[in-house]
Amino acid sequence: MYPLSEIKNLSSLHNQEIVRVRGRVFSKRDCGRVFFLILRDGIDTLQVVLVKNKEGTPIHLSLEDCNVLRRIENESFIEVIGQIHCSEKAILACSQQSIELAIMNYTVLSRSVLDLPITLKETALIEDKKAENQVFSPVQYVKRLDNRVLDLRTDLSQAIFRINDGMLFYIQQYLRGHGFVEIKTPKLIGGASEGGTDVFKVDYFGKPACLAQSPQLYKQMAIIGDFKRVFEVGPLFRAENSDTNRHLTEFIGVDLEMVIDQSYMEVVRLVYQLLVDLFDALNKKYNREIAIIQSFFDVPALTLASELVVVPFPDAVALLKAHGKARGELEDLSTDDEKQLGTIVKEKYHTDLYVITCYPSRVRPFYTMVDPNDGRYSHAYDFMLRGAEILSGAQRIDDYTKLLERVAELGIAPSTIAHYLHAFKYGAPPHAGVGIGLERMLKYFLGLPDVRYSNFFPRDPKRLHP
Ligand code: ATP
Repeated sequence: MYPLSEIKNLSSLHNQEIVRVRGRVFSKRDCGRVFFLILRDGIDTLQVVLVKNKEGTPIHLSLEDCNVLRRIENESFIEVIGQIHCSEKAILACSQQSIELAIMNYTVLSRSVLDLPITLKETALIEDKKAENQVFSPVQYVKRLDNRVLDLRTDLSQAIFRINDGMLFYIQQYLRGHGFVEIKTPKLIGGASEGGTDVFKVDYFGKPACLAQSPQLYKQMAIIGDFKRVFEVGPLFRAENSDTNRHLTEFIGVDLEMVIDQSYMEVVRLVYQLLVDLFDALNKKYNREIAIIQSFFDVPALTLASELVVVPFPDAVALLKAHGKARGELEDLSTDDEKQLGTIVKEKYHTDLYVITCYPSRVRPFYTMVDPNDGRYSHAYDFMLRGAEILSGAQRIDDYTKLLERVAELGIAPSTIAHYLHAFKYGAPPHAGVGIGLERMLKYFLGLPDVRYSNFFPRDPKRLHP
C-alpha cells in the first residue's frame, strides 16, 4: 500500500511518483476527454485528472467507476491513488499550482448528501468573483452558523481557527516564559464572580449557584496563596441579553494576575509587549491564513506605534470634547466614544493599539484600587485595538480593611463574597491583572465583522445550537 500523503506536502515529491491522498470533493468539471476534480484538505487543494483515450474510455478506471466519480456529491470524503504530474501551466484554481494527480484508483470513504445547505465553493470563489467584477454575496451568516460543520470547512474558518490556535499557543508560551503559572479555577460557583445581574443561574442540588462570569476573585486568591504570577484560559459566561457584534454569552477568557513592585504600569507594559510580540509572530507565521481572511474582508493592516501610547481617562474625555462630543467628566465610555477615540488616537499617535488608564472609580468593580490622591479615579485601565476594548484590568485593593470599607461604600452585602473577603484577612501583596476576551481580540486583530466568526460554536442570546 502506498503511504498516505497530505495535499500540502505533495510539491516536495517528484514527477511520476505514485501517492495516496485523502480529501473532500470540492468541485468537478467534465471536459470530454478529461475529467477534472478538485480535492480539498483544509485550505489546501489539488487538481485530480482522469484522462480518457480516443474512444472515451478511461485509462485507469473502469467505465462504471468513472461514472460513479463523475456523479459523486461535493463534500464527499474520498481517497485517491494517483501519479504526480508536473504541470507546465500554473493551476490557478488550486493551492497546489504546479502539480496535478493523474488518478489510478479511488475509494469513496464517506458520501455527502447532494443538497448542501451552504456551498463551500461560493465562499472560496470570492477571488474569482472579484476578478470578474461581480459583487460577492456571502452566504447569509446565520445560515452558515446553523450549518457550522460545513462552515468550519471553508477557507475562512480554517484560517481563523488556525490563527486562534496560534494565538493561544503564543500567549501561553509567552506567559510561562515570564514566570506565570497556569491555573484552572471553578466555573460553577456559589455567588456572582463580578457582581451584578448578568449571571446565568443554575440549580446546584437544590441550592442556588451560577456560572462564572470571570475568574477574577479566584486568580486574586491564587496571588494570596503566594503564586506570584498566574494566568488562566477558560470559558466565561455572561447573561448579557445584548445582540452586538462584540458580545457572546460564552467566551474564552485569558486572565492574568501578578504581584507588582511599584505600580500597575508594570502589568500594562508586560501585557503591551505580549500583544506587540504576539501580533508580530502571528503576522509572520500565518501570512497565508491572513491573506485568505483579507480576501474576504477589506481590512487595513494593523499599525502599531514604536512606543506604548497611554491616554489617561481625563485626556480621553478632553480629546472627545475637542472633537465635539458633549459628555460628563466621569461618565463611562460608550462603544461610540471608543470608536471615535480610536480614530482620534490613530491620527495623533499613528497606532491601532493603545491604553486608557485612570478610569473613574465609579464605573469599575468594587475590588478596583481607588486612586489614593483623587478618589474620583482608579488604577484601572483598558487596552483598545482598532477603536474597541479588547481587555480590561486594574490594580486591586489588597488591604482587608480598605476592601471592607469599599464594599460597604458600594452597598454590597459582604455575605455574598464572604470567601473572597476572608482570604484578605491573611495578608495580600500588591497586585494587578487583566482579563482578555480571546474571541474579541481575534476579531479586532483580524478585522472580522463579528465576534461569532472567532468562536467555534458561538453562543448568543438567540443561539444555543449547534
Ligand atoms: P464590554 O464593556 O465590552 O461589555 P466588559 O467591560 O463587560 O466589556 P470585562 O468584564 O472587563 O468586560 O471583561 C474583560 C474582557 O473580556 C473584555 O475586554 C472583552 O475583551 C471580553 N468580554 C467581556 N464581555 C464579553 C462578551 N460578552 N463576549 C465576548 N467577550 C467579552
